[in-house]
Amino acid sequence: MALQHPCNTVIIGAGPAGLGVLAALRQAQLPRVRLLERDRIGASFLKWPKQMRMISPSFPGNSFGAPDLNAIVPWTSPALSLGSEHPAGAAYARYLEWIAETYRLAVETGVEVSRVDAEPDGTFRLETSLGHVRSRFVVWAAGEFQQPRYPPFPGSELGLHTGCIRDYEGLGAGERVIVGGCESGMDAAIHLSRLGATVTVIEKNIQLYRETNPDPSLALSPFTLDRLREARAAGRIRIVGGAEVQQIERKNGLYAVVTTKKTYVSSGRPLLATGFSPCAGPVAHLLEWNSEGYAVLTECDESTLAPGLFVAGPVVRHGAAIFCFIYKFRQRFAVVARAILERLGHPTESLDIYRRHGMILEDLSCCGEACAC
Ligand SMILES: Cc1cc2nc3c(=O)[nH]c(=O)nc-3n(C[C@H](O)[C@H](O)[C@H](O)COP(=O)(O)OP(=O)(O)OC[C@H]3O[C@@H](n4cnc5c(N)ncnc54)[C@H](O)[C@@H]3O)c2cc1C
Repeated sequence: MALQHPCNTVIIGAGPAGLGVLAALRQAQLPRVRLLERDRIGASFLKWPKQMRMISPSFPGNSFGAPDLNAIVPWTSPALSLGSEHPAGAAYARYLEWIAETYRLAVETGVEVSRVDAEPDGTFRLETSLGHVRSRFVVWAAGEFQQPRYPPFPGSELGLHTGCIRDYEGLGAGERVIVGGCESGMDAAIHLSRLGATVTVIEKNIQLYRETNPDPSLALSPFTLDRLREARAAGRIRIVGGAEVQQIERKNGLYAVVTTKKTYVSSGRPLLATGFSPCAGPVAHLLEWNSEGYAVLTECDESTLAPGLFVAGPVVRHGAAIFCFIYKFRQRFAVVARAILERLGHPTESLDIYRRHGMILEDLSCCGEACAC
């Protein structure tokens, strides 16, 4: 049966990217679309530390042509549905659940996709925990939060990656070293200092927290700068810029973090705020990878090796354009959906709403433009 009727599209991952593409295809009433999720809707957000909040603000500007930055469907607003400007992970997962219910998005949870292969007839064969599935198109939307990146220096296994922390309260007070001073590292420093810890943040890029940048993917967000100013006033956060960690050692029940400047002591396990890697296991062999570890994609976010395989979410990059925030990668949902619909000869007018709501970005030349003030 499955061999005679392949799906039109299988989407993998029920985070904002997978649900956003599904909502666009559902809007077009495309039949035989499945979304497979190994855990549950919003699983990555449910794994966020209890204290962590979205750094991108939610505000219900939709009716004046400025859609909520964290919305994944044009006419929705997490600010309205959650009553929060910086929702916690669990709250944002509720917004995603609400989207799935309201727009009747059929999500099959508890289904792991372990391998995807391109078949000679132009379809894809997916190995899943439910058995094999065939599909004309595949959208890989598996995110990155579930794959912490561990740094290559000796002793990194002694550290605790911030992606594995569920609650900062359990880490206690004392002296703590944090490796990495981007958003996750500063977020950890703020929460730990509020809980009474003394924190040293080590960041190799000395400019990161000193400069503003028109692209929040390359500088600390205003939300974090505000919180950092407040937290630093309490005098428990020290930031060491321009130092690179070379090793972590365990000494006399403490941890020595050896850097190119000096050695810092951490009473608890040093925290590794060293980022995340794209999860691509089942489709990795179908993508061409650049030297920075990102997939090379066509102008409609499709694999250059396996036509019909699309990528959605924070791992999409085109040159200097980094799509790591929801307000950025949602601009590509309609681009991917339109490519799929057009190739199936299915009408695309339903996607006009994305343009009317300013939720589609095709000309990437504006990315990185400086602000006037
Ligand atoms: C610490 C942190 C903070 C962030 N804060 C913000 C923020 O404030 N604002 C913002 O806009 N962005 C933020 N981001 C960016 C963030 O990556 C995205 O907001 C979002 O999580 C990405 O959505 P996604 O749908 O691509 O991935 P996810 O939300 O990670 O969803 C991917 C889903 O795929 C599933 N999956 C994975 N592999 C398989 C498989 N083989 N088979 C089946 N299912 C699978 C997972 O279980 C998961 O549910 C943050 C990221 C991090 C890491």
